[in-house]
Amino acid sequence: RAKEVGRNTYEFYKEDMQAISDEYLKMERALFLAMENEDFELYYQPQNDASGRLIGAEALIRWNEPTQGFISPAKFIPIAEEIGLIVELGEWVLHQALRDVSQWRAEGIWDDSLQVSVNVSPMQFQHAGFMQMLKSAIETFNVPPHCLDLEITENMLLSDSESSLDLMYQVRSLGVSLSIDDFGTGYSSLKYLKSLPISRLKIDQSFVRDLLSDHSDEVIVLTIIAMAKALNIDVLAEGVETQAHQNRLTDMNCTLYQGYYFGKPSPAHLFSKAWLSVVNV
Ligand code: C2E
Ligand code: MG
Ligand code: MG
Ligand code: MG
Repeated sequence: RAKEVGRNTYEFYKEDMQAISDEYLKMERALFLAMENEDFELYYQPQNDASGRLIGAEALIRWNEPTQGFISPAKFIPIAEEIGLIVELGEWVLHQALRDVSQWRAEGIWDDSLQVSVNVSPMQFQHAGFMQMLKSAIETFNVPPHCLDLEITENMLLSDSESSLDLMYQVRSLGVSLSIDDFGTGYSSLKYLKSLPISRLKIDQSFVRDLLSDHSDEVIVLTIIAMAKALNIDVLAEGVETQAHQNRLTDMNCTLYQGYYFGKPSPAHLFSKAWLSVVNV
């Protein structure tokens, strides 16, 4: 009997795995096709200070797949990483973000104190051509490097930390800033954090979500803010959805915010209409 159950479980498992790998293969092919057709779009989400003033925007990729509709980047970015497409895709993202900023500068609606934040996956960052790609992208689109911020994750620092650190210093020497995304979910040690050329920690939204009801989340957020302050690093809370969240975070000395309460990610033209206006020069 036990054997039978075991066997059935295995059969189900096999079917499940088959279905998963079919879906996976389909997605792989669709991704390569999408890259050829440039079926991607960048959305922008505002980043704000405590008074609600805009300080920058995070560029977030969207994939409108012709047959399936929008597919979440949380789903396809890991696959793009696995099949090595992330290098090309990441380059497309950086170029598009810089193209949008250079367009807004040309229209006179981009203040150069603003920053655009671009997510960079570990594999893309550590790819041999990354620094050259970054340099020439900045030159091509003629955007001041301090207008660009790259979001990397803590876990990138685990693998071959020596060369990651070196890369981070090279990025900083261009004038581009670095943020650590999803902070608190990875494994970086405090001692290590001290030595990183980082401008900003982004507190992961999983800690912000239940901030008002979960005491341990509250302690974690307080600790991250205190630590960032001590290290002279800016701290931004992700996933701020309500006024109550912002109030609590402000009480905790958090200075920067991003989340639905301030604005959802939206296409470039809608973002600029809502948030950018003629800059006095
Ligand atoms: P992330 O970099 O941590 O981006 C923040 C995510 O939280 C975004 O999801 C954003 O839409 C969502 N978000 C923002 N405010 C709120 C809020 O108040 N409540 C809730 N529940 N969610 C909020 P999105 O756009 O689906 O992206 C998911 C992840 O995919 C990103 O997390 C990032 O890791 C990755 N990703 C997105 N675009 C890119 C890209 O161009 N390159 C790379 N390498 N990764 C990307
Ligand atoms: Mg991010
Ligand atoms: Mg994040
Ligand atoms: Mg994330």
